[in-house]
Amino acid sequence: MSHDCWTKHEDDVTVLQDSQPVVGKENSVLKHPRYLYDQSPSVAVADFEYEVDHLVIGAGVVGLAIAERLAARGGGSTLLVEKNVASGQETSSRNSEVIHAGLYYPPNSLKTKLCIRGNEMMYDFCEKYNIEHQQITKWVVGQSESDLEYLETLSKKADKLLPRTKRMPGAPTFMLSEEEMRSQEPFVKGRAALVSPRTGIVDVHGLMQLLETKIQDHGGDLALQCEVNYLEKLAGGGFKVVMKSPAGPVVVKAATVINSAGLHSDKVYNMLQWPVIPPTATTTGITADDDSSSKDADLADLDPTNFESRLPPLKLHYCKGHYYGYSGKALVSRLIYPVPDKNLTSLGTHLTLDLAGRMRFGPDVLYVDNPTDYSIDLSTVGSTSSMKTVSQVIQTYLPAVKSSSLYADYAGIRPKLAGPGEPFRDFIIHHHTGFVNLAGIESPGLTSSLAIAEHVETLLY
Ligand SMILES: Cc1cc2nc3c(=O)[nH]c(=O)nc-3n(C[C@H](O)[C@H](O)[C@H](O)COP(=O)(O)OP(=O)(O)OC[C@H]3O[C@@H](n4cnc5c(N)ncnc54)[C@H](O)[C@@H]3O)c2cc1C
Repeated sequence: MSHDCWTKHEDDVTVLQDSQPVVGKENSVLKHPRYLYDQSPSVAVADFEYEVDHLVIGAGVVGLAIAERLAARGGGSTLLVEKNVASGQETSSRNSEVIHAGLYYPPNSLKTKLCIRGNEMMYDFCEKYNIEHQQITKWVVGQSESDLEYLETLSKKADKLLPRTKRMPGAPTFMLSEEEMRSQEPFVKGRAALVSPRTGIVDVHGLMQLLETKIQDHGGDLALQCEVNYLEKLAGGGFKVVMKSPAGPVVVKAATVINSAGLHSDKVYNMLQWPVIPPTATTTGITADDDSSSKDADLADLDPTNFESRLPPLKLHYCKGHYYGYSGKALVSRLIYPVPDKNLTSLGTHLTLDLAGRMRFGPDVLYVDNPTDYSIDLSTVGSTSSMKTVSQVIQTYLPAVKSSSLYADYAGIRPKLAGPGEPFRDFIIHHHTGFVNLAGIESPGLTSSLAIAEHVETLLY
């Protein structure tokens, strides 16, 4: 397989109706372009058409991990496209950077399975490639009788759910009494704490940078400032993908498409057009009267109703979370969480440490209408009264925190399937005839990213 991984076609849309399998070809062009339209300044980009085996939409940590995994397979071409000027500028760089252990979610959910698997994969990957990380551990601190009951139940659940492995031979969680807590973290207040030794933190920027480099080392490509705005399943197989770039539209034929567009994955999913099947003949030459089983299989493949029934139209909700920095010295040496909300909208305003040992608090929960507005309204979030409210919440487990040392820092937006007050929703990761749809990849999406990539590969191959 040539190192250059996707193929240019200079003849126009006819190639998009071509039912040939899409494979990398010898005379392929574009060695790792970061900007499609930079490839040859003398030729208008709209003249180019490309073919690719895997087209991954969205270069957040999940899209990067998927593209890296698919590019590493060899023997097929992989193109990752991103609408922004750089990878990882949305949710992936606006989170707590926590490697979760997988304690909270329903046992059979994808969130649990992929988080548990992703946790181990993340530590292995970080160690192997020297990405900064720390298995710093976390405490979930209980204050009330019902908190303590919750923690006991959580501990039993974790014991059943989280396998002991070569890397993680110890108990997945254990409890500490108030006295034990005080001897280790004198500033933390609580009646008991559940310890999660498998929880850690990771430098997400370092992780994304490495994935980007590895995609290119495997012969894959990343195209920046390319926003997918049209997606069509072709009757002859594959997909027509049209992207907006600063130099005009770019049209690509892709054998498989992976929608990893984060906060915009519902828009990408909803833009997918399905072929209109002529009443008498399909493009594969099978007539509508032909009742052979191969016809049924093909028609089933192309049937939009079938697709719709498996995947109803999507609507994401946007749930903003603000973080507060702390200008004082760190008062603890591990992550401290309160007991989470019942419906797991958030894990509570918790305390995380960054890799430099600085404390920060957050994220809070605020459903918003705009998925692109990361601004922090200082008149509310940064106001004295807001700082007081936040510090009151934090003071339930860390009384020494002063509201005067808090400052509004940054915000991230969760791509949620559940609206305000609605019950828990799992990740959607679904494959249908070459289209893999990911939606609702909120926390623990960073932890799960490498496992999601592995899962997507098994859906496709
Ligand atoms: C406040 C907060 C805290 C969190 N904390 C944690 C944590 O501690 N641990 C954890 O495991 N997880 C955490 N998460 C979840 C984690 O950050 C996400 O699950 C993960 O970053 C999702 O990555 P992604 O690649 O799916 O999405 P994104 O990072 O949003 O990437 C999607 C990309 O798709 C691009 N895109 C969109 N539409 C198009 C288009 N039409 N064409 C081309 N490109 C497009 C976007 O520009 C974007 O770059 C947190 C999330 C939030 C919001």
